[in-house]
Amino acid sequence: MIPCRKYLARIGLNIYPNCPIGKCKKEESITHIFFNCKATKPFWDSLGWQNFYKAQDKHWLIQLKAFDYPIKNNFINWISFFPFAIWYIWLNRNNNNQKNTENPINGDHIIERATKFKLLTEKSINTPQKIPIKIRWHKPPKRWFKLNIDASFNSNNQKYGLGGVFRNANGNWVVGFAKSSHASGSIQAEIEALLEGLKTAQAWGMFPLEIWTNSTEVIQSIQQGNRLYDDIVNECKLLMHQHKEITLQHAFRQWNNIAHQMEKKVADITKEKKLFVEPPSYVKSLVESKLEEHYVFVKFLSYDDGNTLASLGNQSVLSDTKYESHVLNDT
Ligand SMILES: [Zn+2]
Repeated sequence: MIPCRKYLARIGLNIYPNCPIGKCKKEESITHIFFNCKATKPFWDSLGWQNFYKAQDKHWLIQLKAFDYPIKNNFINWISFFPFAIWYIWLNRNNNNQKNTENPINGDHIIERATKFKLLTEKSINTPQKIPIKIRWHKPPKRWFKLNIDASFNSNNQKYGLGGVFRNANGNWVVGFAKSSHASGSIQAEIEALLEGLKTAQAWGMFPLEIWTNSTEVIQSIQQGNRLYDDIVNECKLLMHQHKEITLQHAFRQWNNIAHQMEKKVADITKEKKLFVEPPSYVKSLVESKLEEHYVFVKFLSYDDGNTLASLGNQSVLSDTKYESHVLNDT
């Protein structure tokens, strides 16, 4: 039972029965809170569901459950989305009432939470069917730095190359680094890349920091430990724990291209870490094009892949991923 003002007034509480939001002043019923209020209506409108709140039947909840509005994320459907929407509308309303603010309801945030919940709680859905998702690059929050890291390993000579690039929230180059040395395997090379990135961030004071890697093994090593490389993993963790605002997330390879080019070029240069305050010539055009910001591609993921990537913080999987099926048939 939701304690709306209409109900509270009816059971005898001395309370003004109308909506307290702005100049709304309409009687505050449950359908008013969730659908008709001027604080809520723009949210449903923004999703393109204008007919939604005209459902004023007393069986509105049952009616709503039967709706099947398209959701902008292929991992979830209406049934998974709806309870989160209702819950967030309620939270948003209470927060605004308490703090006297007028923050709008954030639809992307609801999709992200609903998707995370579904992918992380429903562990495995036994379907061989691949889900097409639209992948696009996500801008870091204001003030944040963004670090992309990458590494490669040559098993013939046991050598690795690692590279990384720091950019600010506008996507502009701050500093890059590259290094080559010996390792015992590719996972070690990827963890070394993280360590060098963290040391550079520390030396240059680049926090808050989002770190992106296309190596799922690195993230799993940090989350669960790695018996083979515990010493480097612990060194990374120590540096990460010194800063609250630091995240390590999975990015698809397409978003890691600059770091990848840096790492490829360094392979035979030097054991010492080399810093680049300007983009080196071989990535200059790539950096200046800001290609990744405009680049959208489609990837086919199984439900379990989606589940794993969501647990590694892959932003693409959690946000707007809807891909038009008629385009798909052409590819
Ligand atoms: Zn209202």
